[in-house]
Amino acid sequence: MAEATAAPPASSENAIPAWFDGSEHTHRVAAAIAQYGPIARTTLAQMLQLSQGALSRITSDLIYAGVIEELPGEAAGHRGPLPEGFVPRESSDRRGRPQTALALRANARTFVGVKAHGHSAVAAAVNAHGEVVSGRHEAVFTDRSPASVAATIATLAADCSADVVAAGLPSPTAIGVAVGGHVRDDAVVTFAPFLHWDHDVDLGAMVHAATGLPCGVFNDIDSLLVDACWFGPGVGKEMFAVVTVGVGVGYSLAVRGRPVSCPDKSYGLAGHILVDPEGPRCSAGHIGCAQCLTDDSIAEQYSRILGRPASFGDFEADVRAGVAQANQLLNRTCFRLGTLVATVANLAMPGMVMIAGESAWLAKVGIDSIRDGIVRYRHNQAAPVPFVVADHDWQLWAKAAASRVIVKHIG
Ligand SMILES: [Zn+2]
Repeated sequence: MAEATAAPPASSENAIPAWFDGSEHTHRVAAAIAQYGPIARTTLAQMLQLSQGALSRITSDLIYAGVIEELPGEAAGHRGPLPEGFVPRESSDRRGRPQTALALRANARTFVGVKAHGHSAVAAAVNAHGEVVSGRHEAVFTDRSPASVAATIATLAADCSADVVAAGLPSPTAIGVAVGGHVRDDAVVTFAPFLHWDHDVDLGAMVHAATGLPCGVFNDIDSLLVDACWFGPGVGKEMFAVVTVGVGVGYSLAVRGRPVSCPDKSYGLAGHILVDPEGPRCSAGHIGCAQCLTDDSIAEQYSRILGRPASFGDFEADVRAGVAQANQLLNRTCFRLGTLVATVANLAMPGMVMIAGESAWLAKVGIDSIRDGIVRYRHNQAAPVPFVVADHDWQLWAKAAASRVIVKHIG
């Protein structure tokens, strides 16, 4: 029985097509090769707990379908990441044919990824392995109406398509769009504060109509998370978290490469967590919550320190110029960010935390203060929290949107 309030499902003709037909095992094998390849068959069989015979039948099908390829022996010695806790056994059969390695045929497919901001969008094309294979394309929205945003995205998609075709690669299979906010059914934007959208917009269907390409629409932070778990530092992590800093503070958690879903998560739930009992007061009245890590709060704190108005850009310039007050605030901010990372590590227990976002440069400059902040809130016998800082580039967010459609395409 349908609920009276249930929203209509997104159009199914806009579904991302599957690269190949096959059993659940076939999809698992392709996904593992995408994440861990080039990888030896024996290692792959152990990792997926499949017999050599079963694996061989599946990989033959995938080779025939043009999804994967076999690389010569030396690639099998590649030691990339493996799943946490998995230790491959040495193969007892060393008499047979030399080991070959299986890899995704990365250039057999291309995809377009777009990151939509409040006023503009950045786009890039990637191959099936999530590697950027086009130039960087940016465009400003004429206005924030859904029609105008979809039209701009279509122009960017055409620019990306022209690049990949000129490079001799296949034209894009699908397009992924990342937005800050809530997205339902990987298509319908229900809330996008930066675009000032507060009603349902089937952006997936609109972009599909404007480009002719199947289109998936996703939350931007979850896209970064999935991209990292498939093609970046999160590969093999049982749990992986991302914390973003910039205009706001973002957080998301993936378990085995899938974002933990919660209907409220895109409301910025980590934005008001306590990070410093002596920190500044936020607009909601909290003292020392994570809002003190945002650009606006940092500008305000810096203005107070200097006794005159200063912007976040002024703060960044002063940090780069080695101004003492700016560096003190930078270190304090990074200590607080370390506290937030420790909170995430203590409660969610991810194998790694990635710090990203437009102000992630802070974390690179103040990395020692981040470590101090983490250590301050960890048990002294607890292992250090592994964390990485992503170099910020909006193109990475565009690529991440494309990674979401790759994941759906591989299934
Ligand atoms: Zn607050």
